[in-house]
Amino acid sequence: MSRIAAWEDDPQSALHIEPVTRPAPIVKQPRLGLSLVGPEPPARVYVRGTSGFRYWNAADALSRGICYWGRALPEDARWHAGRSLVVDLDAGVDLNAYYDRQELCFFHATVRGVAVYSGESPDVLCHELGHALLDTIRPQLWNAASIEVASFHESFGDISAILSALELESVRDVVLADTGGKLARASRVSRLAEQLGWAIRQSHPDAVDADCLRNAVNSFFYRQPESLPPMAPASALSSEPHSFSRVFTAAWLESLAEMLGRRGATPATLAAVAVDAGRLLVAAVRSARIASNYFAQVAAGLLAADAVLFDGAYRDGLRRAFVGRGILSMSSAEATLHGARARTAAAPRRGAALRTIGVPVDGRAYGLRVGRLLVEAPLGPARWSAASAAPDLGSLAAATPERASRAFVEDLLRRGRVDASALAPTRATPGRPGRTTHALVRKGGDVRLVRRLFHELVSGRCTRMPARAGKDV
Ligand SMILES: [Zn+2]
Repeated sequence: MSRIAAWEDDPQSALHIEPVTRPAPIVKQPRLGLSLVGPEPPARVYVRGTSGFRYWNAADALSRGICYWGRALPEDARWHAGRSLVVDLDAGVDLNAYYDRQELCFFHATVRGVAVYSGESPDVLCHELGHALLDTIRPQLWNAASIEVASFHESFGDISAILSALELESVRDVVLADTGGKLARASRVSRLAEQLGWAIRQSHPDAVDADCLRNAVNSFFYRQPESLPPMAPASALSSEPHSFSRVFTAAWLESLAEMLGRRGATPATLAAVAVDAGRLLVAAVRSARIASNYFAQVAAGLLAADAVLFDGAYRDGLRRAFVGRGILSMSSAEATLHGARARTAAAPRRGAALRTIGVPVDGRAYGLRVGRLLVEAPLGPARWSAASAAPDLGSLAAATPERASRAFVEDLLRRGRVDASALAPTRATPGRPGRTTHALVRKGGDVRLVRRLFHELVSGRCTRMPARAGKDV
């Protein structure tokens, strides 16, 4: 079999790191296949920095991620577009990457003389892959007007990068040695996208963590995202989804550490626990109610899935991790455990569409004479649904669908993430080209907010207000 050269997790994940050689992966699979843009170079060991190296490095990382998640996904899982997922490893100059339901797109930029390709980092590759996989598991999350749902999409991407890296025996060995078997300590796998983080840090020093793009080991306690500022340095939480995602990712990594602690920390048990963790997460996402406090719903789903799949073997560790972070309130965790089996046995509402509601916006502030947008709102709380912890005592009431949607829309507009060119193509629009994630689409007399993609820009700054108002709608 041919061998290729590839990074294990990131080009800058350790000092003096060199690529490893690996068997050439099979890219064209019938089930969750990939279609890399451009001709396939012959499979052999290429020198780093060449396009042949980047091609096989990306094919290796993405195949590893698909192989890992394939074990947890149902047999009939397919990409959202219903065909091979297109992968463009170099779509132009930027420090970015995105998933738009058709393709995974990566970029490059030269920073301090170093050519940084986002598609050269297995961490970034498997993060984007995570967006695509979550979209196959729960497509209703795509358009949900909820900060917490968008943040979970980012968290799932980071978890996908961690679990894909742990597929490698060499990484498991290093991580166990470096952390003394305590997976909740900072390590190569907790540090996501070291090189991209370094590149962004050169121009925006406080936009990313000091040692990588995002470290899954942090000290953030749950807050209702609608109450957070729209931007903050990396040392604080904001409602920006990449920032807020760190609460869930950290709790989840702690739960993985607890699961490993229960089984005994060896490379073999780490491999087994990582597989169990993926099965739990997929089951939780399939059943979790898409509510404004979505983190709590997924955490409750994990406890419920553990009761069914593993007879509650990981219950105490999961509860400690998610209650400890305030993602689940203590009373909610108890209630979840008592009702876990019954609720998981009920068929998941995979096909249930989210309700469309009208959200009032002051479009003039953003150069648009739009008074109302139609959005897909998250569901409201139900009598039995899980709750997060209040910062002081007890449980926190979930934001109403109206408040959650309004906060989500306001954040997008403030960050310049909405493309309104379809409404007023010749006028100034609130979104910055290449920086938008959503678009405004006119349908009859209504204007609807629709997601176009998930991208990885974390250093967004408030957009300048255009001088002239846009067209009436
Ligand atoms: Zn992302």
